[in-house]
Amino acid sequence: MPNNPFDEEKLASSRVYQTLLESTLAIPWCIDWETKTFSYIGPQIEKLLGWKQNSWKTVEDWATRMHEEDRDYVLNFCVSQSLAGIDHEADYRALKQDGSFTWIRDVVHVVRKPNGNVDCLVGFMFDISERKKQEEHLQTLQRQLEEYSYKDGLTGIANRRLFDEFFQREWLNAIRVQKPLSLILLDLDYFKQYNDLNGHVIGDTCLRQIAKSLESCCTRPRDLVARYGGEEFAWILPETNEAAAVLMAEKIMAVVKDARLPHKASAVSDLVTLSMGIKTITPTEFDSRMQFLDDVDKNLYQAKYLGRNRYYAA
Ligand code: GH3
Ligand code: MG
Ligand code: MG
Repeated sequence: MPNNPFDEEKLASSRVYQTLLESTLAIPWCIDWETKTFSYIGPQIEKLLGWKQNSWKTVEDWATRMHEEDRDYVLNFCVSQSLAGIDHEADYRALKQDGSFTWIRDVVHVVRKPNGNVDCLVGFMFDISERKKQEEHLQTLQRQLEEYSYKDGLTGIANRRLFDEFFQREWLNAIRVQKPLSLILLDLDYFKQYNDLNGHVIGDTCLRQIAKSLESCCTRPRDLVARYGGEEFAWILPETNEAAAVLMAEKIMAVVKDARLPHKASAVSDLVTLSMGIKTITPTEFDSRMQFLDDVDKNLYQAKYLGRNRYYAA
């Protein structure tokens, strides 16, 4: 094929290579390893970063035009990979002439001399700022999704789903470390009447205020207070014996009382009150988590039965 444009000799003598290199969106470059100087960098660099093509002289120019948080890692990584003769790629934020940064992916090929020593590095810089933006957007969405799926929509505290996961984890942990685990179930007193008298919207506000009060008592990092159901809450207290759980229940009673939320339809107080069932266990693998939950619920029922506005532990 006499007119084959890809004929080696023709390519070498024509400007096809150069045209290809300089029209691609990726920016080609070449660094001489011995002198650590650029022997070539594509003119597209100016359009991407603003720095003139002839301002890229040494590796220093490359390193200083990099975000300082990325610099040490990227330099160490690239130098060690190059010395080992391994082709590599690195993502970093490149400094633009206007002072802003843009994400770059450098894909590096290590060219060696016949004796095995590094001769030069040949690479391409890719503008990955759009991809990074999408990745960051996706990560934000992912975080929000995780947060929402564990958060109760009305009160903003942990929801039943988080309670279930947390309870299962702490139950298994209590079996392993053989330390007591306490659980408190809380239920507002005469809340149906509260709604009947005040309406559901004010009922919802009341639930939010109670949740806030409960959360303010939750000071140990491993404790978890969750909205368990409609107007029921649950409190998981890892490594807590019954005496300490009772103290916690008393603190909760005091905090709810201090909130002074009026309840004109309650038969036990003129303020909103709650009843609690408390139980503590140092479980073994032969105990049932569901049975324990049921026992705590029975204690809650007992607190109701004994007159409400109280806790019951047994
Ligand atoms: P008790 O003292 O025996 O607990 O009486 P109670 O009226 O509180 O009875 P129960 O616990 O069975 O009542 C649940 C009531 O809580 C029913 C419903 O009106 C109210 N409730 C449940 N979920 C919500 C909610 O999300 N918002 C509002 N405003 N009320 C709720
Ligand atoms: Mg209830
Ligand atoms: Mg109730």
